[in-house]
Amino acid sequence: MPLTEETLLGKSVEELTTWVKQQGQPAYRGKQLHQWLYQKGARSLTEISVFPKALREELKDYPIGRSSIYHCSVAPDKTRKYLLQLEDGLIIETVGIPTAKRLTVCVSSQVGCPMSCDFCATGKGGYERNLSSAEIVDQVLTVQEEFQERVSHVVFMGMGEPLLNTKEVVKAIKILNQDMGIGQRSLTVSTVGVKKKILELAHHKLQVTFAVSLHAANQSLREKLIPSAKFYPLPKLLADCRKYVEITGRRVSFEYILLGGVNDLPEQAIKLAKCLKGFQSHVNLIPYNPIEEVDYRRPNADSINSFSSILEEQNIAVTVRYSRGLEANAACGQLRAMLAQKE
Ligand code: SAH
Repeated sequence: MPLTEETLLGKSVEELTTWVKQQGQPAYRGKQLHQWLYQKGARSLTEISVFPKALREELKDYPIGRSSIYHCSVAPDKTRKYLLQLEDGLIIETVGIPTAKRLTVCVSSQVGCPMSCDFCATGKGGYERNLSSAEIVDQVLTVQEEFQERVSHVVFMGMGEPLLNTKEVVKAIKILNQDMGIGQRSLTVSTVGVKKKILELAHHKLQVTFAVSLHAANQSLREKLIPSAKFYPLPKLLADCRKYVEITGRRVSFEYILLGGVNDLPEQAIKLAKCLKGFQSHVNLIPYNPIEEVDYRRPNADSINSFSSILEEQNIAVTVRYSRGLEANAACGQLRAMLAQKE
């Protein structure tokens, strides 16, 4: 279990009010504490200047639940990749991605990942544990503090498989939304698909963007790329996605990493279009970012364009998403791997 479970970060205003009362303080200090934790991003109770001096002194070592920055690397496109050190010493990746109108944070939901997708650097590094909701929210607060700018969007596309940690991920979504004021539609949960978990998430009826990493439109290729797909056949996954749309009223986005000569052929685009026909969906094509451990290659611009055009001709909404921050090794699990080599 995460060591930070009992930290102040992660608690609601009601829970914080109970906590301040337990410290012998009046109830209104709960609201103050809430504001300092989630709006001002306090790192220690001594910073809370509206608290009496004696109280600040008494609680100065009380754990709030903030990580420390272990490493930061900045790409020329201003994307910043952080390695954050948790209370138990483990390291996670968080990326801050600024654009003209947005500041997006790519958060981790686990330390490492057990899914072992063949093209993914995180999967090669093994799995340690789930993150607590506080550890997820901390990543957003850290990027906000570092950029000195309000975070507008959060994507659960860092380390880990969010649907293996649904309870804490849903809790974090609620905190980001209700306590930090980020609209649910500006939050994206990305999953490779975990049996039963898509419908479990649907029943929370969140308004977040829901993305499924598909990567192949046939079962045998999908199993090669994503070993866990063996336990969740494509027809069942797609049926659950359709139910997700019915239950939540939100469309599903499908992510499709493009691996040259592996899943980027025209007939594979036609097969993908067939799978998604009549579906309220959107496809994000992600040209592969090379990682050291495997031999895939990024397709050239012509095959990316023709794959995308075939989908468009079939009336499927499609965008090509290039990863930001490649120069900072910020794409997908790479910075941690690079530092691990050095150590
Ligand atoms: N486990 C979740 C979220 C983490 S990965 C999921 O799989 O959806 C977030 C996205 O980054 C996924 O679509 C994943 O397939 C993609 N990704 C992983 N490694 C990549 C690489 N080397 N190049 C491009 N995209 C990659």
